[in-house]
Amino acid sequence: MQQTLLLLPGDGIGPEVIAEARRVAEIVAPDLKVEDGLVGGASIDMHGDPLTEETLDRARRASAVLLGAVGGPKWVGAARDKRPEAGLLALRKGLDVFANLRPAYCFPALVEASSLKQSVVEGLDLMIVRELTGGVYFGQPRGIDETAGIRRGYDTAVYTHPEIERVAHVAFEIARGRQGRVCSVEKSNVMESGLFWRQEVTLAHAEMGAGVDLSHMYADACAMELVRAPKQFDVILADNLFGDILSDEAAMLTGSIGMLPSASLGTPGTPGLYEPVHGSAPDIAGQGIANPCAAILSLEMALRWSLGREKAADILFAAVGKALDQGARTRDLGGNLSTREMADAVIAAL
Ligand code: NAD
Repeated sequence: MQQTLLLLPGDGIGPEVIAEARRVAEIVAPDLKVEDGLVGGASIDMHGDPLTEETLDRARRASAVLLGAVGGPKWVGAARDKRPEAGLLALRKGLDVFANLRPAYCFPALVEASSLKQSVVEGLDLMIVRELTGGVYFGQPRGIDETAGIRRGYDTAVYTHPEIERVAHVAFEIARGRQGRVCSVEKSNVMESGLFWRQEVTLAHAEMGAGVDLSHMYADACAMELVRAPKQFDVILADNLFGDILSDEAAMLTGSIGMLPSASLGTPGTPGLYEPVHGSAPDIAGQGIANPCAAILSLEMALRWSLGREKAADILFAAVGKALDQGARTRDLGGNLSTREMADAVIAAL
């Protein structure tokens, strides 16, 4: 069956970086059917809605979805459900992508871009698997109200057995293709939901963690260890809240935001959602100077995790490293290449 890649460029620099990812896709996977759609502000301007039912339907039928970025000053004052970001949330929910993968990989050529010492980040290659659709960001009840004359604000940190089991399963799968080590992170010392997380991950490991070495760490200790000795980690498994914080921390170990891809996966056989970590960067949009590598590396993750094209993914990953080794740099990396020229360097290396 022919595989389809749905491109949703979005807003700001989104269309600029996705155009380059498309050129790369046409080379590394020429038989792939590439389609386009609108999301975010671009969809609001055209349809009055940040994600139409039709686009969501097409995303569900695609083999993988590659999104640029959404948002920008033009739509800031709009009602919450009519903002570009609502389109991204609806897409994540509509595709039921519950496992967010954020690699933190330090390309040898970019060791000096990290704020940490060279010896700490050289050779760094870790993956954070964050639960994306549950936990305290979604738990009920939540609200701000007043009881007995005292105002209060509250959220509920809650996880169910299936929610933890399925994301643990993803982490074990990923670890098997790497060094085979998963470190599960929570606050089981002070939170019941954290204790439950630890118990469930341990249980899941006993049932389906063959070949994987599982360890546990408190989230605050993990935050420290990530800047002290990040190379000790292979795969970090975390809930939605801690994963959000730790993945941003880990990402910054590697240098520029223009280099960081992500993947969000659902149950096997459903399309994954791939997107750069960066936003629409209105400050540089339209100038042709954005770094396209995060988008290109998001394509690399799509080839690997949704399209079953590991060899093409390996070749593309190596090509990005080679382009950097040869000195290719956009402005965020201290160089002066345009978006197009940076992609040209990757394509030449391919
Ligand atoms: P941002 O990531 O867009 O930009 C932060 C800084 O990094 C800016 O100085 C920008 O120029 C730079 N930058 C980002 N990507 C770059 C790239 N590829 N190459 C070179 N430099 C790059 O974050 P922000 O400024 O906080 O947000 C801007 C808009 O993007 C907002 O509307 C925000 O809501 C939205 N946003 C969207 C997403 C998403 O679509 N997933 C994520 C974050 C922010």
